[in-house]
Amino acid sequence: MTDKTSGKRPRKLRPATQLVHGGTLRSQFGEMSEAIFLTQGYAYDSAEMAERRFTGEDPGFQYSRFSNPTVAMFEERMRLLEGAEDVRACATGMAAVTASIVGYLSAGQHIVAAKAMFGSCRYIVEDLCPRFGIEFTLVDGRNLDEWKKAVRPNTKAFFFETPSNPTLEIIDIAAVSKIAHAAGAIVIVDNVFATPMLQKPLEHGADVVVYSATKHVDGQGRCLGGVVLSSKEIIKKHYHDWLRQTGPALSPFNAWVMLKSLETLPIRVAAQCATAEKIAKHLLTKKHIAKVLYCGLPDHPQADIIKRQMTGGGQVVTFVLDGDKAAAFRFQNALQVIKISNNLGDAKSIITHPATTTHQRLKPEARAEIGVGDGMMRVSVGLEAFEDLAEDIDEAMEAAFPGS
Ligand SMILES: *Cc1c(COP(=O)(O)O)cnc(C)c1O
Repeated sequence: MTDKTSGKRPRKLRPATQLVHGGTLRSQFGEMSEAIFLTQGYAYDSAEMAERRFTGEDPGFQYSRFSNPTVAMFEERMRLLEGAEDVRACATGMAAVTASIVGYLSAGQHIVAAKAMFGSCRYIVEDLCPRFGIEFTLVDGRNLDEWKKAVRPNTKAFFFETPSNPTLEIIDIAAVSKIAHAAGAIVIVDNVFATPMLQKPLEHGADVVVYSATKHVDGQGRCLGGVVLSSKEIIKKHYHDWLRQTGPALSPFNAWVMLKSLETLPIRVAAQCATAEKIAKHLLTKKHIAKVLYCGLPDHPQADIIKRQMTGGGQVVTFVLDGDKAAAFRFQNALQVIKISNNLGDAKSIITHPATTTHQRLKPEARAEIGVGDGMMRVSVGLEAFEDLAEDIDEAMEAAFPGS
C-alpha cells in the first residue's frame, strides 16, 4: 500500500486538505475513494513473516482487534486534524472515555472531575472507578480553587468536558492544566461539544483528548465511534495494551463512514455554527424564554475564556422555557422539523429535554446543582434552512404557551 498524501509529505497541508487526503492508504488498484477492509486477519507470506509481525519487527497488520487498514486511515486523519502525536480509535465514545480514565489510573490513585458532564462519563467516575479502588472528587469545573483544593498526593488525572452538556459551561483548559501539572496529574478533555474544528485542547495544555465520533465526526447519525489522542508516550504506556487486550475495536465499516465524513467536517460544522447563532438570537426575541445559553453570544458568562480557547460558538443552543415540564413537553410534541432525540452533531436538528432523558439518572439534587431544570431544552442545530427551524420553534412556542 502507498501513502503519498499523508502528513509525511514535506509540504505541510492545511487542515481542510488533510481532512480530504490525510492518512489515505491505496491498495494496488489505486482506488480514489478509500477502501473498506472488512477482514479480521491478514495472511503472511511465510512463517518467518508471521514471527516478525508478532515480534513487531515487521510493522504490517496482524489482527483487526489491534489494527486494520481502514481504521488506520481514520486514525491518521484524526491525528492530523488534532495535531496529536498518536491516536487510537474505539468502538464508541464511551469506550474512548473508559480507556482514557481506567486505562490510565490504578487502584489507590485519585481522579478529579468536573461534575457537569455527560451522564455515562459520570458513571465511569462515580460508580466504576471506586469499584476498582480509584478514588474520585467532583468539582465545579469553573472554579479554579475547587480544582486546587481537590488535589491529593495520589491525584493522577483531571477529567472534564468543555463546553459542558447541556449547560454549556466553560472550563479554562490552560488554567486547569497548570494546576494538574503542578500536582503531577494529567488532563483528559472530552472535546465532543467543541468539536476538533473549534477547540484544540492539546494546544492549551491538555494531555489527552477524547471524542465520541458518533457526534459531529459522523455527523449524519449513522455509526458509533470514539477516538483517544495523546502523546506517543502516554498512548504506548497506558492505552496501547488496554485497547488491544480489552477489545473495544472500531469496526472497519464504521471507520470508513467516519473517514469519509471527515472530508466534509469543516463545511458542516461551519454551517451548523452559523445557523445555531441565528437560532440563539431568534430565541432571544421570544416571550416565555427565561434564558438562552450559547457559546457564541457575547453575554455568555465566560465569553473571555471562550475567546481564548474556542474559534466558534458551536452548534448546540440550550434555552430555558419559562414554564414547567408540561410546557416543555408541549413544546417538543409540537415540533415538526426538529426531531425529539438525544444525539447531537447530526445533519438533522434534534431537541432534547435533559431532565427527563440524558440527565434522568441523576438525583434531582444533582440535577439542580448543575442547573438542569424542567424547563431546560437542548437543541443540536443541523443543516436545515434556518427559516424552517425558526418557524418550527415559533409554532412550538405557541403550542407550549397557548393564547399568549
Ligand atoms: C455522546 C457523548 C459521549 C459518549 O459517546 P458514545 O459514542 O455515545 O459512546 C461522551 N461524551 C460526550 C460529551 C458525549 O456527548
